[in-house]
Amino acid sequence: MLSMGGGLIERYVAAMVLSAAGDTLGYFNGKWEFIRDGETIHQQLAQMGDLEAIDVARWRVSDDTVMHLATAEALVEAGQSTDLPRLYSLLAKHYRDCMGDMDGRAPGGACMQNAMLLQPNRADGWRIPFNSHEGGCGAAMRAMCIGLRFPHPSQLDLLIQVSIESGRMTHHHPTGYLGSLASALFTAYAVSGKSPWQWGKGLMEVLPEAKKYITQSGYFVKENLQHWSYFEKEWEKYLELRGILDGNSAPIFPQPFGVKERDQFYIDVSYSGWGGSSGHDAPMIAYDALLAAGDSWKELAHRAFFHGGDSDSTAAIAGCWWGVIHGFKGVNPANYEKLEYRQRLEEAGRALYSLGSKEDAVLDP
Ligand code: ADP
Ligand code: MG
Repeated sequence: MLSMGGGLIERYVAAMVLSAAGDTLGYFNGKWEFIRDGETIHQQLAQMGDLEAIDVARWRVSDDTVMHLATAEALVEAGQSTDLPRLYSLLAKHYRDCMGDMDGRAPGGACMQNAMLLQPNRADGWRIPFNSHEGGCGAAMRAMCIGLRFPHPSQLDLLIQVSIESGRMTHHHPTGYLGSLASALFTAYAVSGKSPWQWGKGLMEVLPEAKKYITQSGYFVKENLQHWSYFEKEWEKYLELRGILDGNSAPIFPQPFGVKERDQFYIDVSYSGWGGSSGHDAPMIAYDALLAAGDSWKELAHRAFFHGGDSDSTAAIAGCWWGVIHGFKGVNPANYEKLEYRQRLEEAGRALYSLGSKEDAVLDP
């Protein structure tokens, strides 16, 4: 049993809102997401008076938040039912519909192309074929709230299935949809109060379960298994580097590890030179920032929101996890009070809390 009382509802709200705040800050109306040099971003940030001086009133959310809201609102619309095919149709509907709200929000290629092809009203109209180019972070950036919906250890199977299937509606490649699993799983860990030092090991233990599900689901099994190992190996390498593969050691960071060194590290863990743009490294960079940030929103932002990689996606993920753990504590309200869609985000957070606080572990056959 989780302790679901005492401020958890506010932390659910903070998870949704601060994820969007991170996205908004990392994106800066398209000005910062695509700057490849973190030092340039940090210089501009300093000129603005640093994070605490930023009022997001005129800053828009990007594709990450629009799609995270799509996931959240589909989960809420499905309600307490664990009729998974119905939930998948709802997710497909929300993903397709939200593409109408992408002007000026820089949606990713795989998300855009595939969401438009989904056919929510047809049985299996939410399935797309395997594609070796669909390892981008578009599935990972929108899946955190699945962990808010299914936070209980007894719901792990549900979390695995829903994160994978929602992910492969646009990213039918393990590197893509396992990013979705990582985003959702770590959110559930945050809700259950598991120490972040243990999350990486938890993921390594869940991956074989995910592989079993892929095999059992009987859909492009051979292709998925052929491309399975990249995500797992990259994560193992990363956890080993930080000394946390055992799940009970403190993470070790290089010294110095400033803006420049972090940019280089994000490039090193990336697939093609743009850190955080894939399914494995977006949650990895978010996790790395969270491990180092402690209770400092500003430290989290400096590491996960403002860097030379795909900064709004790593920000959306990190902001969500941090919000579950810390709520709004120490965050300047200017960073989120006038956030676009704040009302919708808060409503989704509250609705997910009321669904997540009931332990409906039963999975329809
Ligand atoms: P999105 O995932 O947000 O829809 P894109 O489809 O544009 O966005 O992909 C974003 C990134 O995904 C690109 O930078 C690309 O390098 C990376 N990518 C594509 N295929 C793979 C893969 N198989 N493994 C890892 N990364 C990949
Ligand atoms: Mg974006």
